[in-house]
Amino acid sequence: MNGLIPCIPWSFIHGAVFIPALAIPPTLGTLPALFLLMASKKITPGICYLVGVGPGDPGLLTLKGKECIEAADVLVYDYLCNPAHLRFAKTDAERIYVGKKAGDHTLPQEEINKLIVKLTTEGKTVTRLKGGDPVLFGRGAEEAAELHEAGVKFEIVPGITSAIAGPAYAGIPVTHRSHASQLTIFTGHEDPTKPDTSLNYAKLAQADGTKVFLMGVERIEEITTQFLKHGAKPETPVALVRWATHSHQQTLVGTLADIAAKVKAAGFKAPAVAVIGDVVNERAQLNWFESRPLFGKRIVVTRTRQQAGVLSKQLAQLGADVIELPTIRIEPASDQMTFGELVQDCHTYDWVIFTSPNGVDAFFTMFDKLYNDARSIGGVRIACIGPGTAEKVKARHLAVDLMPDKGNYVAEGLVKAFKDHQDMENVKVLWVRAEETREVVANELAGMGAIVDEAPAYRTVAETEDNLEALARLKAEGADVITFTSASTVEHFLNLKVALPAECKTASIGPVTTSALKAHGLQVDIEAKDHSIPGLVAALEKFWR
Ligand code: SAH
Repeated sequence: MNGLIPCIPWSFIHGAVFIPALAIPPTLGTLPALFLLMASKKITPGICYLVGVGPGDPGLLTLKGKECIEAADVLVYDYLCNPAHLRFAKTDAERIYVGKKAGDHTLPQEEINKLIVKLTTEGKTVTRLKGGDPVLFGRGAEEAAELHEAGVKFEIVPGITSAIAGPAYAGIPVTHRSHASQLTIFTGHEDPTKPDTSLNYAKLAQADGTKVFLMGVERIEEITTQFLKHGAKPETPVALVRWATHSHQQTLVGTLADIAAKVKAAGFKAPAVAVIGDVVNERAQLNWFESRPLFGKRIVVTRTRQQAGVLSKQLAQLGADVIELPTIRIEPASDQMTFGELVQDCHTYDWVIFTSPNGVDAFFTMFDKLYNDARSIGGVRIACIGPGTAEKVKARHLAVDLMPDKGNYVAEGLVKAFKDHQDMENVKVLWVRAEETREVVANELAGMGAIVDEAPAYRTVAETEDNLEALARLKAEGADVITFTSASTVEHFLNLKVALPAECKTASIGPVTTSALKAHGLQVDIEAKDHSIPGLVAALEKFWR
């Protein structure tokens, strides 16, 4: 990242850099006048990074690309740049979308050139994000030339191109020791029937090895016709990979003779990368991405934005296309004073019971405000409802003394665990709970003779912010399954008043959530055997196995 280092302090100062008169060495003769002149002006060391962000999979952004996003004052991005990359930007970085879909040029190329020159000249750190690699049919060279012309600094940060990564994600290597020692990449954008095309189809058709073309879905018929006309074998394999490396990647395989008809029949649309050659046959054994267990399944995650990640990540790793639609948000308890007092006295109890990871978070947030010594928790024993909650406790280097039997991670399971564990007569228990929850733990333990204090630690409220995009996606594209991880996600999902897409299944984390779904007349198609996030993921995997 050497290239970046010198400019970062400048861009952070971002504005006037004045050279103090005192700093001028007295020996410089006439130079002080120049220094004084400069001192009265702004020095503007702007820079523009032309960054390739890869074909879409967020993991295919390079480390250098990520650093350029982090350093940016302004980000200029377009249609093929996955917006997920923008999460690395500073919160106050300006984000400018310049569009560009075939036939939908939000901002013409000349305007984009002018824009990046203007922003860089103003002294900003400008990061221009481009899909794939910036100089492979990315017009990166034109933008670089404009920046050079304007006398401002720029750097080109290569990216992983869709021309190679797209086929690879479809199980097609562009070269192969036994049948492709050469790779030709061309644009399908030019009309091959027009006399002024710069492509020589006679040579392309005769070239050895693999041919890859971009921007060619609309012209697939003309292109394949030209290949056949110039002697290519009709049975030559062809594959088109659409939205390659994204979770909704699609691949269509055919031959030079029939691929155009297949594209038409399937309504196959851009953006897609096309591969021509025997390497396509490798897909039969190398198709790793699309054969993951949940590939092609669109799954909705309704948990809070903070908690969604754990579930979403596991689903995405198995190939699912995840829509995060947070329906709930966790807020601090309404009565912080009482909660604080109970947490303060925690060492006076025999047991502290946690029935959710949120409870653990709320408890220790309060604990840390009250105490600055972990030992202040004393000798109190700790019970947790399930492994997700226990993990949070263990992260504090505290042992969990009691948990329900495997697969019984519900309030009833916890009560049973206590029953099996000890006589509860006069045992002092502090139950850290949500404001709105079932009373099973308190009632049952009190029934066994325990003295139960309840500490409402947090509230679950409807999430209303930032879910418009996810809602629009759900309405437009539908989903295969909606996951529910608590009764409150069910209630709040139903409050959104979105009709369940046709054929869409419901998946529940356990019996309490299932009852909530059934109480609203919804069928439950999948229920986790083990009432935990990994249990839910396993149930989904099993459902489609
Ligand atoms: N610089 C880019 C290419 C830009 S030209 C790169 O190196 O990948 C735009 C074309 O790239 C699209 O029409 C399509 O043919 C191809 N393309 C880009 N991203 C793609 C993706 N994720 N899946 C399939 N094709 C893609």
